Amino acid sequence: MKRLDTALWHAVCSTWLVFTVLTQPPEDLDVASRVWIPIRSGTVFTDPTGGLASGSTAPVGNGSPRALFLGVLDGQGVWAVDMDPADGPPLDEGDLEPVPLRKLYGRIPDEHWQIAGRATQIVEFERTHCYCGRCGSPTNTNAADRAKVCGECGHMAFPRLSPAMIVLVERGPEVLLAWGRQFPGRFYSALAGFVEPGESLEDAVFREVREEVAISVSDVRYFGSQPWPFPHSLMCGFTCQWQAGEIEIDPEEIVEAGWYTADNLPPCPRGGMSIAGWLIDDWLNRTGGA
Ligand SMILES: [Zn+2]
Repeated sequence: MKRLDTALWHAVCSTWLVFTVLTQPPEDLDVASRVWIPIRSGTVFTDPTGGLASGSTAPVGNGSPRALFLGVLDGQGVWAVDMDPADGPPLDEGDLEPVPLRKLYGRIPDEHWQIAGRATQIVEFERTHCYCGRCGSPTNTNAADRAKVCGECGHMAFPRLSPAMIVLVERGPEVLLAWGRQFPGRFYSALAGFVEPGESLEDAVFREVREEVAISVSDVRYFGSQPWPFPHSLMCGFTCQWQAGEIEIDPEEIVEAGWYTADNLPPCPRGGMSIAGWLIDDWLNRTGGA
């Protein structure tokens, strides 16, 4: 019943997705043709032609691959494969092509890239939850949920998700963009930060904006969200309006921040793989600057 509920939910709510999330293969699934997503340390192994690999058996050599069922894509079951199983030597990738997940974006359909991101997170979850975080005993996989359960104390662990907010602050015809200290070069984006325990997403917006640039904002509006599998974030996007204060950066986090008009944007994300680019494109479309 649970599996049916999950399938219905995604069929109704995510009609643009052709992927149905499931924790166990349906009994009537055709296993003659399956999709395989081998993973090693955040690198995805694709078919030599560049797409997701497929076939009746996992396209990797030596040993028995630990395959983790993810769901059904256009009628085909999808399995992630841990290329470095804990109980044996690394698997031989054969003629598959290793591509870091970030670089895979744009080379396969967006829906497939999102599934590859899911695969990396599930493989990482399995690798890091072999033992109970409470008592150290070996865990078992829960058959009904995607969870690991301790055989000794019953402690249950689920895949880790770290919610984070990203917000585009608007002031009249301008937006606030900041050069984050962790960026590899001079590059500006919307403000972002992780949600603290006990906070709402909106609380995190107010706090992060105050901490990073010392201004107050109002009219916080939800924009959309994006799974961000580096390694396990969920980015929640917002827009808001400047209310008061002058920019005063936190030098620990920010190199430089400023107000920018559509015709004077610094290097910043546009469209593409991140919700930061979607936020900026949306603002340009709304303000006629696109
Ligand atoms: Zn335990």
